[in-house]
Amino acid sequence: MTASPASLALQQSAVPQERLLSTAIPGPESRRLMARKSAAVAAGVGTTMPVFAVRAGGGIVVDVDGNRLIDLGSGIAVTSVGASAPRVVEAVQEQVAAFTHTCFMVTPYEGYVGVAETLNRLTPGDHDKRTALFNSGAEAVENAVKISRSHTGRQAIVVFDHAYHGRTNLTMAMTAKDMPYKHGFGPFAGEVYRAPLSYPYRDGSTAGVTAAARAIDVIEKEVGAANLACIVIEPIQGEGGFIEPATGFLPALVAWCRANGVVFVADEVQTGFARTGDWFACDREGVVPDLIVTAKGIAGGLPLSAVTGRAEIMDAAHAGGLGGTYGGNPLACAAALAAIETIEAEDLVGRAREIEELVLARLRRIEGQDGRIGDVRGRGAMIAVELVEAGTDVPDPDLARTVASAAHRQGVIVLTCGTYGNVLRFLPPLSISDELLHDAFDVLAATLEVIE
Ligand SMILES: *Cc1c(COP(=O)(O)O)cnc(C)c1O
Repeated sequence: MTASPASLALQQSAVPQERLLSTAIPGPESRRLMARKSAAVAAGVGTTMPVFAVRAGGGIVVDVDGNRLIDLGSGIAVTSVGASAPRVVEAVQEQVAAFTHTCFMVTPYEGYVGVAETLNRLTPGDHDKRTALFNSGAEAVENAVKISRSHTGRQAIVVFDHAYHGRTNLTMAMTAKDMPYKHGFGPFAGEVYRAPLSYPYRDGSTAGVTAAARAIDVIEKEVGAANLACIVIEPIQGEGGFIEPATGFLPALVAWCRANGVVFVADEVQTGFARTGDWFACDREGVVPDLIVTAKGIAGGLPLSAVTGRAEIMDAAHAGGLGGTYGGNPLACAAALAAIETIEAEDLVGRAREIEELVLARLRRIEGQDGRIGDVRGRGAMIAVELVEAGTDVPDPDLARTVASAAHRQGVIVLTCGTYGNVLRFLPPLSISDELLHDAFDVLAATLEVIE
């Protein structure tokens, strides 16, 4: 088992690191629970897999019927250190026995300050920074907008085609895709404007600076820099299809923002914390956002999110203007400090790059033989394939769905994404072994071969 330092090995030994199908997927216990779910849980809350989890760790999720599934989803890019990382488990157990909550806005505690200090240190740029903590990605995105408006005294915000920023009212408006995220849920918040993205596979590999000029033209003509509080962008889009803008796109947007007093907000909720083979996706091109929004991979599975950024921008909001009952909950803070320590101690940034090499090599081999693979892209442990009708660039969401559900039946957790629903995305925990990755991509390769 390569690249498996001490604490990862411990996590992996607690949950056997081998795919195992002991029943059909779903098994009888999962079927029973699914019937209870249908009778008790709102229909709008869907599930990707038809099985119920009882344990997870390393690169495996164990279900109620004893099946062991290979995890290529990390609970949507959350459990990057694994779903039972020893440092996280221990830190949370210690904290839960001390106290569960006091509310940071009532009687503060050190863990919150420790997380803020750590984020100020790790996020891009060495300027003076401040951090505020929240519960979910969407809540942090909303707060980044509040802070940007407070700082600039302007109202408009610009987001991009294919963007995903969450499911609350403001973040629904910021999210691009109608179905399933917005459909029937309007009216949406105002002063949200959408600009064209750089999408190399579908814009004829337009150069990054050219694509940025196109976006800036739309912003200047349709919004006006003087009305614009912030630009919010995912450096690599998540739900929108793992779209990585062409080199030069992000730096050109940052330069324009600086010249026009616009706050540049990087939504790194999905890309942060080693996921892309850097601490943050912005690091690759040396992009320094004014504000960076983080969540998902931050706390080893506990709900936590953050806005970190330039002190003068972060401090613009008046005292009492930011916060929330649970924001920066002590358990979540303990988990975050332990997860970040794990990433540093076990060089999970390096591990993400190893995973990239392995997964890309496997996918390129399939791509060479299969005209339905339109594009292979991504960085680190955030890799996707865009499926199309063979020899064209016409999106094929049916194929993505069919491949994913066939993989599910064979014990591999795979997620789809993309505006057209035709992207298979791979987000394994960084605690997964090479053996499990090879097994999962053997399954995927064989699945693609048998599906017409
Ligand atoms: C998941 C996600 C969000 C929303 O996070 P929640 O915790 O689900 O509210 C926002 N932005 C990006 C880029 C995401 O991937």
